[in-house]
Amino acid sequence: MTEQPARRLLLVHAHPDDESINNGATMARYAAEGARVTLVTCTLGELGEVIPPGLRHLTGAALGEYRRGELTAAMAELGVADFRLLGGAGRYQDSGMMGLPDNDDPACFWQADVDTAAAHLVEVILEVRPQVLVTYDEHGGYGHPDHIQAHRVAMRAVELAADAGWEIPKVYWNRVPRTVGEQAFARLQGDLAALPFGKAGVLDDVPGVVDDERITTEIDGTGYAAAKSAAMAAHATQIEVSGAYFALSNELAQPLFTTEYYELVRGEHGSTRETDLFAGIEVPGIESPGIEGTS
Ligand SMILES: [Zn+2]
Repeated sequence: MTEQPARRLLLVHAHPDDESINNGATMARYAAEGARVTLVTCTLGELGEVIPPGLRHLTGAALGEYRRGELTAAMAELGVADFRLLGGAGRYQDSGMMGLPDNDDPACFWQADVDTAAAHLVEVILEVRPQVLVTYDEHGGYGHPDHIQAHRVAMRAVELAADAGWEIPKVYWNRVPRTVGEQAFARLQGDLAALPFGKAGVLDDVPGVVDDERITTEIDGTGYAAAKSAAMAAHATQIEVSGAYFALSNELAQPLFTTEYYELVRGEHGSTRETDLFAGIEVPGIESPGIEGTS
């Protein structure tokens, strides 16, 4: 058996592109620092709207396969070698936006039995034995059925894995602090004329925005901004990047955050904001920064 890196981070996402938008800088940073970074993506995003006109003929399984290629390219940009599809490629299909008839497709992730889907994730957890898991909040950040289901499956897998012998010490949800979002959108107003996007989005479009008090952790990914941008750009069917901004298929400009924020929902943290997802975790061979603010 090969020896595991001491620090192990597992991220659970709904579609290819979500990982780069939410956690690209975090993933690049921990991968560069020698941690094992494992991504589990639950669907291939077969129902995503395609931005480049030349690729709009891609739909369904063909789009899923194409997006799998984009995910592979994005992971190369982030330096992440371990990325998997929940239950294997094609096991769970994109459910489409909330309220669409696609939500009723028996093959879609929204219709999946949570315990069955979680069992696939438990297999990964027992193999990787992560100290940290990152996923979305109970609204999936913004209400997409696949994001909500990814949350449910991830949180259930945390319970089932604990019963099966691996308790994940720290679980985080992706967040954006409200004031950081407000400032970024204010800057966007001034920069909009120079961007290739017609209009600015609004903070309400950004998943996971909460009042600043709920933020427990911030990861400074400034040094990995280029990697994050490149990873996002690799998802070209879904994302257009321009400098410090990007747009999805709605063509509304929004800020690209290179400091990424989290809310710790399982595990302990100190009275001040953490700057490391592994804070307080004993890692052999690495001096623990401890839990800040408690000593
Ligand atoms: Zn998504």
